[in-house]
Amino acid sequence: MRERVYRSEAIIIRRYDIGEADRVLTILTPSGKRRVVARGARKIQSRLAGHIELFTHTTLMLAIGRNLHIVTQSSPLDRFVHLRADLERIGAAYYVAELADRLIEEESENQRAFELLLGALRALDSGASVDLTLRAYELHLLDALGYRPQLHECASCGATLTEATDRLSPAAGGALCSQCADAEPQALSMSLPVFKLLRYLQVQPLEMAGKLRVSSATRAAAESLLRAYLRHILECDLRSLAFLDDVRLMRHADAAAPIKTTEVRHFAQGDDDENDRSPPGAW
Ligand SMILES: [Zn+2]
Repeated sequence: MRERVYRSEAIIIRRYDIGEADRVLTILTPSGKRRVVARGARKIQSRLAGHIELFTHTTLMLAIGRNLHIVTQSSPLDRFVHLRADLERIGAAYYVAELADRLIEEESENQRAFELLLGALRALDSGASVDLTLRAYELHLLDALGYRPQLHECASCGATLTEATDRLSPAAGGALCSQCADAEPQALSMSLPVFKLLRYLQVQPLEMAGKLRVSSATRAAAESLLRAYLRHILECDLRSLAFLDDVRLMRHADAAAPIKTTEVRHFAQGDDDENDRSPPGAW
């Protein structure tokens, strides 16, 4: 006979409200991504409410429901309280969660993707460089899901790449040798420091990224290249990127003034508006 209740380690990567008081959570577990329901989680007296916040790493007890499995208990392992005190890090956490949500198919087992998300949240929580943590996470997640950008052999002809490499093509799936780059006008410029940074981040553990010292120009160029690469795969930009860009603009525009957190908090807490996303589908 099938077990009716089971335990699962999970990270909550998205949530939205349904019905009078319920919440649907998208969770990433070591055995895949799935949607589950937390009944009554929006009621004031709910014991679950505080234990199912976005980005929480937790152990869930789940009951097998007819459609969605039902959360009966959540015992948080890490709430990442430090990153929650900083708007840019909240934005970054929202981004790593959204990227996982968009790139990972439901019910496809991928323990490495789970560990990468957990590693990225831990790095963001520990004060590591936001930029470099995000770049390392993007590169490793792409690799774990079969979209690894080619940075050692030409993505078009397979020739070993040298320091003369200065173009990257999202359409071809990576960097191009100079001959192939000439034949592809759409390829994007890539400076040698950016090329070296991407190669380094791709092969080093994610935790190493936050310890690097890299100029802001190189970080910005690496961000823009990977954003173009991801846009090619996802065929759209992510909502969280607009949020992250806004936070940075506000900081830049008026570093001395405190940022009003009221408007952004609703968004960053992840009470998602379902209208701008594809519907959850048949339950
Ligand atoms: Zn080539």
